[in-house]
Amino acid sequence: MLRDILNKYELDKSDLLYLMNLTDKDDLNMLYEKAYSIKEKFIGRKAYFRGLIEFSNVCIKDCYYCGIRKSSPQERFSMTKEEILSMAQWAYENEYGSVTLQSGERNDAEYVEFITEIIKDIKNLSDAKLGITLCLGEQSEETYQRWFDAGAHRYLLRIETTSKELYKRIHPNDELHSLQKRIDCLEALKKIGYQVGTGVMIGLPSQTEEDLVNDILFFKEKDIDMIGMGPYVVHKDTPMGIEVLTKNMDTEEEKAKRFELGIKMIAITRLYLKDVNIAATTALQALNPLGRELGLKAGANILMPIITLQEYRYGYQLYDNKPCIDDDQNHCKVCLTGRVLSVGDMVGFAEWGDSPHFKVKNNSK
Ligand code: SAM
Ligand code: SF4
Repeated sequence: MLRDILNKYELDKSDLLYLMNLTDKDDLNMLYEKAYSIKEKFIGRKAYFRGLIEFSNVCIKDCYYCGIRKSSPQERFSMTKEEILSMAQWAYENEYGSVTLQSGERNDAEYVEFITEIIKDIKNLSDAKLGITLCLGEQSEETYQRWFDAGAHRYLLRIETTSKELYKRIHPNDELHSLQKRIDCLEALKKIGYQVGTGVMIGLPSQTEEDLVNDILFFKEKDIDMIGMGPYVVHKDTPMGIEVLTKNMDTEEEKAKRFELGIKMIAITRLYLKDVNIAATTALQALNPLGRELGLKAGANILMPIITLQEYRYGYQLYDNKPCIDDDQNHCKVCLTGRVLSVGDMVGFAEWGDSPHFKVKNNSK
């Protein structure tokens, strides 16, 4: 049965469910090897770096799982333009093909203008060579267009979960936290011409295997170019973290399960979507020291090394045990390059590493 499914070119929902429920170690290894071979065929044995700049923990939203949510009592920081540009300069000099700008969500005019200027300045300092991915939450179509015109060309907006019930359970029930708004934003980004990324959190309380399969079907239905997903990791001072810890649902066994689900999601998404970019996210490493290597071996091809200035890393903790918090960007570069080489891949230095899916679809228009 497993061999038959792995040899099919087009999988259906029941195949995805079968794969999602695998538990036997040999079966799982077979799945991961197949996913790696699909990556090799459609992408090559290359990983691309997106230097991650987490420039502010100010957020207007209150997602129940996130360590920098509005109600969190921590001190807030926002980096200056000069600080952000110094990190982009470092990424350029170190031949990272792209940077990713990430922050809590804000949509006031001052912020929108600030980001517009930053995008233009990053393009200028790198002679337009650094690719720019944005991960700045829900914005108006006009704002997305402004940032695209300024030079950003990829946007990552996780849907978090496509289950309506689960989405409601993990967010406050108000207009600011709407699943439909997020779907509309993904449509707007696509219409403007961004390479569009989305993803989900894996192993959320009460999330089922079928929910995760539906998430993968959603990626296909929305013709998504890039996937950035990872396991849910507890932050002990958040409403969801408190609930999970109170119910004793964050044991080593539970964490290992969530980690395995995270790797399975990467592999099954690679089998199903084939030519999209898929990130091995930092959250994988928060649950397993070899998390990102195992992600690459199961079909991921993007890594997002944190290049945030060290003094700000403590202030940007979405979850507990964030990896690399005490490292500087030079150490992260050496460490991650070693991780890529250890699985037999190469790093695509100074290349954008755009999603082949995006290129194929636009050439065929
Ligand atoms: N504020 C923007 C947004 O929400 O789209 C961008 C930054 S937000 C911190 C980036 C991602 O962090 C979210 O999409 C969410 O999936 C992830 N995240 C937040 N808390 C997390 C947790 N406890 N475990 C795993 N991922 C988490
Ligand atoms: Fe804010 Fe994003 Fe965290 Fe939600 S996930 S609280 S929008 S930073």
